[in-house]
Amino acid sequence: MEVVKITPRGYCHGVVEAIRIAKRVGADRGGSEPVTMLGYLVHNEHVTRELEEGGVRLIPETDRMKGLEQIREGTVIFTAHGISPEVVDAARTRGLNVVDATCSDVTRTHDLVRRLVAEDYHVIYIGKRGHPEPAGVLGIAPDRITLIESGDEVDSLPFTADDKLAVTCQTTLSMWDTQSIIEALVHRYPHIEAHNEICLATQERQEAAVLAADNVDCVVVVGSSRSSNSKRLVQVVEEKGHKPAFLVDTAADVDPAWFTGMRRIGVTAGASTPTHLTRAVIAAIETLPEVPAAV
Ligand code: SF4
Repeated sequence: MEVVKITPRGYCHGVVEAIRIAKRVGADRGGSEPVTMLGYLVHNEHVTRELEEGGVRLIPETDRMKGLEQIREGTVIFTAHGISPEVVDAARTRGLNVVDATCSDVTRTHDLVRRLVAEDYHVIYIGKRGHPEPAGVLGIAPDRITLIESGDEVDSLPFTADDKLAVTCQTTLSMWDTQSIIEALVHRYPHIEAHNEICLATQERQEAAVLAADNVDCVVVVGSSRSSNSKRLVQVVEEKGHKPAFLVDTAADVDPAWFTGMRRIGVTAGASTPTHLTRAVIAAIETLPEVPAAV
């Protein structure tokens, strides 16, 4: 089977930096005090296991405040997705040493939301409920930020066209979905201040996957089912590239039956997927024989 390796794919700068920070803290402090990541540092179980082997334990709790209550001492590492200021304050009050591995792109959105709130805007934030990144942003000013997930929610928003509104978004959503939600908001609230904060790494991976879809029969995305940006790669290939797409965590998840009647398979990877997993998936697909479709 022919494999088209889609670039860019895999680790982004935010993930590389978060892993570097966590490994360093684990190595420096792990021998003398508990070192705990509050939630998955990045959404990939293989990365998590490697960090645990390096002395960094995981509290998987999605509700960061509840997770924090389980940490009695030592160092707490906040994940690449960002953290609510309330949780940071609570960690300090508990006497924990705080290490923040928030991606600089997420920090930029936090700074933007802080500025908008200080300037008296109400912020509409497009994001996925239950994901840690929106939770971190909402914590900046819970009464001044409204989370929406889809364009269907725009019509039921309680604001008037005269309200001082701004819109921004989670960094790892589909760039096309987000743009259409922003357009619906601009249509209803012509004076809204719009800030599309999809990060460059997400945009580049989505654009490359959709472009590649023209020249392949399907796309395999290597990434965790927890990973927002990996799931969005599957979505944009299907919706914008109009080709089938499959999410696999490892080579063991590749199902040869997917490729019946196909010749060229595109492979990409989410921003939190270790390179060795993607290499193994590519090798596994390359060894598969072409199977013609039944007539
Ligand atoms: S996907 Fe974007 S926001 Fe998330 S860690 Fe990578 S660069 Fe940062």
